Amino acid sequence: MAHEIKHTTSAHQLPEIPNAARETASPLTASCHCGRVTLNLPSLPRIINECHCTICYRYGARWGYYRRPDVEITVSNTDKNIGLMSYVRGDPDGVGDTGFYWCTHCGCLTHWWYLDEDGDRDKMGVNTRMLTETSVKGVEMKISYD
Ligand SMILES: [Zn+2]
Repeated sequence: MAHEIKHTTSAHQLPEIPNAARETASPLTASCHCGRVTLNLPSLPRIINECHCTICYRYGARWGYYRRPDVEITVSNTDKNIGLMSYVRGDPDGVGDTGFYWCTHCGCLTHWWYLDEDGDRDKMGVNTRMLTETSVKGVEMKISYD
């Protein structure tokens, strides 16, 4: 089915973009908006943390924490130049370098993990904003400031 694209000046009048990812998401599949990056989770997180550190506050992310081997990340890169990009947050003492990853197509921030040897390389944070709101309903929320 062809979609007519209307050019408007108001975001409220922009045409609806089909969101296949949200329509097909299982409660344990986190997906970026365009659906090119998905993370299959072993379970819902015990707790969701809205971190207010200098970077997470800017991202507006809400993290669920997992062991890296337990999360299956799939990147659909049928299009050249589409995949994951990262920003590395380096701490001043060189300890705790963290890579934050996002979909290069839609820009959604999907996860982070430690990159340096001293960090817990098995730990990762998954942005639970990539799960549907219904999926995470009832999961305990907290806010941390460090
Ligand atoms: Zn995407």
